[in-house]
Amino acid sequence: MREDILNYFKILEKRELLGTSYLFVGEDEGTVVDVVKLISCNEELSFCGQCWDCKRIEDGNHPDLHVILPEGLSIKIDSIREGIRFFSLKSFRLKKKILIIKDAQTLTPAAANAFLKTLEEPPKNSFIAISTSKLEGLLPTIISRCRKIFLPFKEKEVDRSLEDSVFSFLKGQDLRFADRKKFSSFLWALIMVFRDGLISKSGWINNQLPQGGEREIILNSYEIEEIDSILKDILKIYEVAKSINMNLALNLIRLKL
Ligand SMILES: [Zn+2]
Repeated sequence: MREDILNYFKILEKRELLGTSYLFVGEDEGTVVDVVKLISCNEELSFCGQCWDCKRIEDGNHPDLHVILPEGLSIKIDSIREGIRFFSLKSFRLKKKILIIKDAQTLTPAAANAFLKTLEEPPKNSFIAISTSKLEGLLPTIISRCRKIFLPFKEKEVDRSLEDSVFSFLKGQDLRFADRKKFSSFLWALIMVFRDGLISKSGWINNQLPQGGEREIILNSYEIEEIDSILKDILKIYEVAKSINMNLALNLIRLKL
């Protein structure tokens, strides 16, 4: 899973399609830092983990990298201002200046607003990686200005046996769930099908998967941007899976497809 994400960034970099702002949603077990190493290290196919840049990035003290973390319970406007100032400096070694904002769900409204302009008009040769454990609570304007990358959630492994239900659902079949746990696992499997689809489609010419099974047929019927937006909606529903009416939720998702 993590490998998929790193592969995805490898492909983007190779084809010079790397965007400026990414929002990583989920439990970040060092994936964001690895992505930063990947785009900074001189090693051709991955990152070495041994060079000056890799080591400094790992330790969080690379001159072209600035990391913003919550102070206490939240990320305050002063930290964001510091990040913006960092972007105004010239880069020392790397082609890009890189800003990581961790636990962005803790941004205060003032801090989030202060950062909007930077997201709207990011400085040249910058890379912004924002990570959040959930979309809830983040300003929609922040979410919409970033490309979203879905990370694994700690406690959640995908139940692959649910993929058949996912495909039935995507083909229009109605589903009923006896209990919430199954329902929530189903939603997660659905998110993973789209997430994996997003990642694998972007590696193919015209973003079309080669002819294969029903997975390919279904995924090819969506544009990358559509998958991105569907993912965002399903994730919101997933976050309230414990309390939402299950049939209502499935109908809501159906409307987005
Ligand atoms: Zn390296």
